[in-house]
Amino acid sequence: MAHAQKVSVEYSLGMSKPSTHLMEIEVTYNNLSSGDATVDLILPVWRSGRYVVFDFAGGIQDFSAVDGSGKSLPWSKTDKTTWRIQKKGVAKITARYSMFANEFNARTKGLNDEHLFVDPMSSFMLIEKHRNLPLTITIKPFGNWHVTTGLDPVKGATNKFAAPSYDYFADSPIEVGTQKEWEFDVDGKKHVLMIAGEGNYDAAQIVKDLTKIVEAHKEFWGTLPYERYIFMVHLMANPSGATEHINSNVFDFRPLVFKNPDAYRGFLGTEVHEFFHTWNVKQLRPKGINPYTFMKENYTEELGVAEGFTDYYTGVLMTRSGFTKLMQFLDALANDIRGDRERPGNLKQSLAESSFDAWIKFWRNSEESVNYEADYYGKGSNVAQLLDLEIRQRSKNKYSLDTVIRTMFEKFPLSGTGYTLADLRKVSEEYSGGSLKEFFDNYVYGTKPLDWEQYLSYAGLNLASRDTVAKPWLGIFAGGDRLRVFRVLAGSPAYEAGINVGDEIVALNGYRTNANDLNNRPAEMKEGEKVRLSVFRDDRLRDVEVTLKNRPIPAYKVEKVKEPTELQKSIFESWLKTTW
Ligand SMILES: [Zn+2]
Repeated sequence: MAHAQKVSVEYSLGMSKPSTHLMEIEVTYNNLSSGDATVDLILPVWRSGRYVVFDFAGGIQDFSAVDGSGKSLPWSKTDKTTWRIQKKGVAKITARYSMFANEFNARTKGLNDEHLFVDPMSSFMLIEKHRNLPLTITIKPFGNWHVTTGLDPVKGATNKFAAPSYDYFADSPIEVGTQKEWEFDVDGKKHVLMIAGEGNYDAAQIVKDLTKIVEAHKEFWGTLPYERYIFMVHLMANPSGATEHINSNVFDFRPLVFKNPDAYRGFLGTEVHEFFHTWNVKQLRPKGINPYTFMKENYTEELGVAEGFTDYYTGVLMTRSGFTKLMQFLDALANDIRGDRERPGNLKQSLAESSFDAWIKFWRNSEESVNYEADYYGKGSNVAQLLDLEIRQRSKNKYSLDTVIRTMFEKFPLSGTGYTLADLRKVSEEYSGGSLKEFFDNYVYGTKPLDWEQYLSYAGLNLASRDTVAKPWLGIFAGGDRLRVFRVLAGSPAYEAGINVGDEIVALNGYRTNANDLNNRPAEMKEGEKVRLSVFRDDRLRDVEVTLKNRPIPAYKVEKVKEPTELQKSIFESWLKTTW
């Protein structure tokens, strides 16, 4: 009575020759319906947290399929990422394949002679209609390697883990190697700091600081929505960020900068960002990505909330917890405001569009991105800042964005269908006592410049220029050993003169130059003066004449006003948990 039994799903993962970068993967489905002549195994085309199509199927080799007695089953591909197996009524099928895995930097899949890391969405096939069934995975570590994962171990078995569904599995990365682990408790929940690779870190200090971070989040959100949480750290030469998961995060960081206070503060800041995601995006999830669509882009206008609001609270919680000093927070804010006003793309693309088009713009970052795109991280963080101050001002500091985001978390559980920007507006209006149509039309759906002066005044802050007079500039950013241009701002003097991204600058007015000179020398000249830039483009030397203009946006400072009102004072103090 085959179909009286429930379909069950078992994966296995092997790594017998790590230096080949080939993972050995098997998936078995038991008790499949005998009525189906074929079954489709699919592999997702993207992974959570990075909204771009990777096409993981390109890494598959040596695919085969067998039935319960080991007999080969014919199969064919029906598109780039679907394998159709002629199962001829059998109840059990096993598919086997190798997956080439050598992209640790993308936090998708990697295997080398030191360790294995895999985000399951990048490598494990599934039958879509069975995505909600519980599953197990048996891992066969190489040599003396061991496994670290947020998946639950199966009692009585070795290296066997369980997930309640493929979706949960998809959000539970796996590390296998000689990584070190430190376990600590906060609020009765287990937490693990895992570090793979060597470095000059102080594990006891990191555990102490992570404990403080977890406590700050418990206070903010009111609950820790997991039984056990893993902070996975990879120490590597060329790290490129971090990714949030359901009860873990993966963070690639440089090995030898832990003694540098600013770098270490950056380390903790990224941990705050990723940990904040445990609530904002892993539980409180935009409608467009709940549930995930595996086979194509998942369109959503809410990444400004998922990422930008998370960035905003990273700065706020780092300051409230004392990791960032008040002056550092205000200086960073002043820099952000200059960046916001200097980015031409902010006048062309709205925050909602930046999110929707993340798949073809933000994550396909090009030299023109700064000129025609907003950035849902930076712009989202800035909009969060303004919305927070707006709600505090309107409610006489009775409510804030903290109240709104916590309410959203309670109102839109992961088991529901997700939230939209309209839901965010509605909840924000409930706590600000009136319409926020104009705010959302201007700053979320529109491209109106953010009115920083007005909003900062609600917290008794004043935005002022650091320079007494405007200074000329080129409008380019360049760096590296060969001083290559990596950004040319639309409308700037260099843009008008035809300087391109990729140009290698060798001299300014006939003299060798460096990245500092490129800013400082024009700043000492006058608007309207001409400078000659000598650049290599495509290995050919050429001179470009640039007519200097004044840099339109000054360097800012954010300062407290001399005589704050009671409301300004109370907003400032409760926003940053400080005293005026
Ligand atoms: Zn993030």
